[in-house]
Amino acid sequence: MPLTSAAADLEPKNWSHGNLMDFTKQRYTPMSRRRRIYEGKAKVLYEGPEPGTLIQHFKDDATAFNAKKHQVIEGKGVLNNRISEYVFQHLNDIGVPTHFIRRLNMREQLIREVEIIPLEVCVRNVAAGSLSERLGLDEGTQLPRSIIEFYYKNEKLNDPMVSEEHITAFGWATPQEIDDIMSLAIRVNDFLSGLFLGVGIRLVDFKMETGRLWENDLMRIVVADEISPDSCRLWDIKSNEKLDKDRFRRDLGGLLEAYTEVAKRLGIMSEGERPQGTGPVLVKG
Ligand code: C5P
Repeated sequence: MPLTSAAADLEPKNWSHGNLMDFTKQRYTPMSRRRRIYEGKAKVLYEGPEPGTLIQHFKDDATAFNAKKHQVIEGKGVLNNRISEYVFQHLNDIGVPTHFIRRLNMREQLIREVEIIPLEVCVRNVAAGSLSERLGLDEGTQLPRSIIEFYYKNEKLNDPMVSEEHITAFGWATPQEIDDIMSLAIRVNDFLSGLFLGVGIRLVDFKMETGRLWENDLMRIVVADEISPDSCRLWDIKSNEKLDKDRFRRDLGGLLEAYTEVAKRLGIMSEGERPQGTGPVLVKG
């Protein structure tokens, strides 16, 4: 595993003068000794260095159809970490609150611990995927306006679509919180649409998650999880070529190349730079 580079990134670089440790510097806790809080399909959360912080680690696993399809694509986690960092840092910069603090190394970022709201918030600009199937719309049809949908995060139930009625009746979020989530979703959609349009990419749709961030007695809703080609539909503006996870879902191949293209267009990776990794490794069909 190329994870040693994660440790190398965090290791203080100036320990050459004898073996004296510099206690003024933050020390790196080896992965094996960190407390693992949660492991999902594409990420692991570890206890962070300070109370109220976590470390979000991006794995190379690609899953679809509720993990029935699974492949390890070496380098995907590195790309998603970089792309998601770019998006979240810019959201922070324009005043959209997020859980993101900073990227730590190739696969990890430091984030604020939040209470995840059990909803996937999906914003659509163009018909595709499950919306096209559900309503019989041709993929690529421009929607009359952006549409926000909620899905209840529950793998056993295949993340069913839910309405505001379900959300408030079952107490997953209050009406005020739903308003806050929707205004965050609109701001993120506006920002992302412009960001990608500027580099020749159409933002068809995306999924985001939110969480409650407690600061003393005050609580606010922030954008959490990740925003990357795993959670967005991104089409080249001219050719309509898919530059997102549909390459994996639909067996189109070239996922790593597509994610690399997104990173290059955003100016995150220079020409010629490659995320480490060889070809995809099939885990199960
Ligand atoms: O499959 P569907 O058309 O509902 O997906 C809408 C958007 O939400 C897509 O960008 C997809 O990548 C994202 N999504 C996600 N995680 C899920 C379901 C959808 O990131 N569990």
